[in-house]
Amino acid sequence: MIGVVKIGGAIGNALEPLMEELASRTTTEHWVLVHGASGVTDELCRVCNVEPRYVTSPSGYRSRYVGEVERAIFEAASYSFSAHCATLLAMKGTPAVPLRPDVAGTAFAKRKESLRIVSEGRQMILRGNYSGTVTRVDPKVVLKLLGKGCIPILPPLAMDEAGGVPLDVDGDRLGAAVAGALGSQVLVILSNVPGLLRDPSDPNSLIAEATSGDWDELESCAEGNMKRKLLACKEALDAGVPHVILADSRLSRPLSAALSGGGTHIWRTRPSMTQTG
Ligand code: ADP
Repeated sequence: MIGVVKIGGAIGNALEPLMEELASRTTTEHWVLVHGASGVTDELCRVCNVEPRYVTSPSGYRSRYVGEVERAIFEAASYSFSAHCATLLAMKGTPAVPLRPDVAGTAFAKRKESLRIVSEGRQMILRGNYSGTVTRVDPKVVLKLLGKGCIPILPPLAMDEAGGVPLDVDGDRLGAAVAGALGSQVLVILSNVPGLLRDPSDPNSLIAEATSGDWDELESCAEGNMKRKLLACKEALDAGVPHVILADSRLSRPLSAALSGGGTHIWRTRPSMTQTG
C-alpha cells in the first residue's frame, strides 16, 4: 500500500511524533510525506523584516500574498522544513529525500499572477503574485525512492508550467494531487485540530465520518483555512483516492490514531464497500 501523509506547517502542529511513527512504519509500508510551511515562513519573514501579507478572496478563501521577496522566503523556509524532517528521520535510521520541484520535476502549477481580493468590503486586484494551483504531479521519482525504501518529502512548491521559479502552492492540495497521481489508498492530512469540527470552537464536536454525498454539510462547518483543506479532500476523492482522513498531529502515534478511526474520515463510497490497505 502507498499512503500519503501531509503535516501542517502552522504553529501548533507536532512534527516529532509523526517522524517517529513514519520511521517505524516504513519498514513494512510505503509513505510519502508532504508538508506545509506557513509557520516557518512567517518566522523567516520576521527575521527578514518582511511583514507577511494575508488576503481573502471573494469566495472566502484566505491565502498568503506572495510577492518576489515573499516567494524567495517561502522557498527557503520550505526547504529548511524539508531538511528538518529528513534529519529527524535520518536520526531514526530512515532515509528520506526532500524533492525540490526544480530538480526532481515532480510537481507543476499554474501561476496566479493576479489575485482578486476583498479588502474593507471592496474587491481589488493584487498583481505580482507568485503562488499557483497544482496542475499535475509526475510520480516517477517518488516511486523510485519508495522502491528503495526511502521516504520522499515534498515541500509546498511546484514549478511554474510556463517556466521560471518554483511557486508557493497549498500543501493540502499538493498532497491530494500526489495521492491521486500515485493511486494511493489513503491521504492523511494532519493538523493542529482533532479533525473537522462541527463547531470550530468546540474540540468535542468532531465529525467522525462522512462521504462525498455529505459535502454541503461538511462545507458549512469549515471556516478559514479549513475551507481549503476540505477543497483538498474533495480533489483527492475526485482524483480516485478512496479515503481521506483529517486528523490530529499532536498525538503520540498520529498515523495509527487516524488509521484506526481517529479524526474525520471521508470516503468516496460507503465504508462497507471500501477498504484501506
Ligand atoms: P495546518 O497548517 O495544520 O494545515 P491550517 O491553519 O491550514 O493548519 O488549518 C487548520 C485550522 O483550521 C485550525 O487551526 C482551525 O483554526 C481552522 N478551522 C476552521 N474551521 C474549522 C473546523 N470546522 N474544524 C476544525 N478546524 C477548523
